[in-house]
Amino acid sequence: MANRVVRSSQTLASWTMITLNHTTLELHQGDITRLAVDAIVNAANSGLRGGGGVDGAIHRAGGPAIMAECRRLGGCPTGQAVVTTGGNLPARYVIHAVGPVWQGGGRGEPDLLRSAYANSLSRAEELGLTSVAFSSLSTGVYGYPIELACRIAVDAAIDHVQRGTALQRIVFCLFSAGDLAVYDQYLHNITRNA
Ligand code: ADP
Repeated sequence: MANRVVRSSQTLASWTMITLNHTTLELHQGDITRLAVDAIVNAANSGLRGGGGVDGAIHRAGGPAIMAECRRLGGCPTGQAVVTTGGNLPARYVIHAVGPVWQGGGRGEPDLLRSAYANSLSRAEELGLTSVAFSSLSTGVYGYPIELACRIAVDAAIDHVQRGTALQRIVFCLFSAGDLAVYDQYLHNITRNA
């Protein structure tokens, strides 16, 4: 599906990177709270109550201003995304996206995960941002298999870029080397088939 849109590819720090028009899809391994991008995307829960995993890390690093805005927002349905300040983070904004809990794949999980990615990108566009970094939505405590989630994440980003975007960088931030390898393989396959 991506064959027509891949204009060029190259490797950066040995990980595959894709350039589509004026936008790069990049991989990063490590703590998303340290990334100096316009917005980072949190794997939030629908109550926006914070929690463990990346959500907890973002609230710890970003400070109480983020939770204060989350309380004002009150919540976010699964598949949607809302924006708060980045607080003390290097990122200016946090986009809180709510992915689905994996229940075997037959309860609409793929559509909901795709929607969480697409809506996050729409929020970034509305704010006029040029760089955004995603955590791997739903693939921690929510149990979504990384191989399946990776395809949805990357395909959603490619679809978004194809429709025209001000974003110059879309970063997928993976915490583990194993998750990074899954993303790297998928991006590599896209460039190889282009
Ligand atoms: P969910 O509940 O949506 O599954 P989790 O926070 O449990 O969300 O996990 C989502 C992903 O975020 C997992 O791959 C996890 O390893 C990763 N993760 C945890 N902490 C961080 C962090 N500080 N930076 C980036 N990714 C992180």
